[in-house]
Amino acid sequence: MRTAAAAMGVLCAGLALAEMTFGGSGPLVNDMALRYFTAEEIARGKSYVEGRYVLFGVRTAITLAFFILLTFTPLSRTLRDLSAVWAGHRPWLTLTLYAACLLLCYRLLLLPMDLYSGYFREHIYGLSTQWLGGWFKDWTKGLLLQVVLLLPTVNVLYLFIRRDPVRWFLPTTGVLAGLILLLTFLAPVLIDPLFHTFTPLRDADLKARVLKLADRAGIPVEEVLEVDASRRTVKANAYVTGFGRTKRIVLYDTLVKRSSPDEVEVVLAHEMGHRIYHHLWKGVGLSIVALFLGLGIAAIFLRWGTTRGLSAHPADPAGLPLLVLTLFVLSLVTLPLQNAISRRFERQADLAALGLTENRDAYIKVEVDLARSNLADIIPPRWAVFLLYTHPPVLERIAIAEQP
Ligand SMILES: [Zn+2]
Repeated sequence: MRTAAAAMGVLCAGLALAEMTFGGSGPLVNDMALRYFTAEEIARGKSYVEGRYVLFGVRTAITLAFFILLTFTPLSRTLRDLSAVWAGHRPWLTLTLYAACLLLCYRLLLLPMDLYSGYFREHIYGLSTQWLGGWFKDWTKGLLLQVVLLLPTVNVLYLFIRRDPVRWFLPTTGVLAGLILLLTFLAPVLIDPLFHTFTPLRDADLKARVLKLADRAGIPVEEVLEVDASRRTVKANAYVTGFGRTKRIVLYDTLVKRSSPDEVEVVLAHEMGHRIYHHLWKGVGLSIVALFLGLGIAAIFLRWGTTRGLSAHPADPAGLPLLVLTLFVLSLVTLPLQNAISRRFERQADLAALGLTENRDAYIKVEVDLARSNLADIIPPRWAVFLLYTHPPVLERIAIAEQP
């Protein structure tokens, strides 16, 4: 136990060193940035986010290395044989044990990195309010949730592969599309409460304003809730989630405490903008199309793997790392496209927020406050925006409101 803790400490220190070595290129400053932020704020945001760019690179490299190693060495076949022995050669149990081992090894491999980036680093930058035990509790819950969701999914997947090793991706896409829709509908009531506590918003005046805004946006809302985000972070946010009877507006308690009602309204108007433009549905639709294409390509690679002796048959569990690797590489290659679509949605939501509130000053104040409290990179490098940014950089978002 002590050796494991020491090893983890060394790894965390190594990551911190990698971050210091490759992360900083010094703050860039321009006139517009200095109108809203101090040079110190710009430097601090840059240091925080540049480290995250590095961590993204390290995480990607670890994931690639892990699945490449499993795919192209006898490791995967050995693990399959062991799983078969443990499972008494029952196919579904062999697959379940194999997939569980894979998941556990992968999560444990990333644990030092997740601990460093999600706990220590957030504390170093004063963004986290969580204690270590709480962080591990969240990590464990996340892992259990993955086990509960992934193991049955893998079994269904392989059921289809066994039935039709060529066209299995057609029924699989159908089933997974159903699962995505179900989770989109049920996550706010089933999964979110596992991690957070939700209470009805107590501030009656604020609630009345929020409901009036929802009415103006044409979004019937069942509930306005406050979530105890301050137990984990100082970052502020709000969102509209769920459908029909699970539809709800959720405000971080950090936002309610820190912001004026005008500003809360702007944040929510942005979220309502997403609803007005049906971004959630569009996102779900795009995910399903991407899943169809991804699984179709994965099916080709699985068959290719059998010709190279990487697995005995497309339905052989030993081919699972190749399947995951294919999907991971595809998601990586299409990341700029995914993020470009996301940034487009965010711009539309920003315009909707301005239109709904007609309050440019509050809009700009919100953008500045969020960038400050979330330690945004005020002037991010172009490549980072292209590759990693789901939202336009803050100065672009402010510029929308500055236009006459
Ligand atoms: Zn948004």
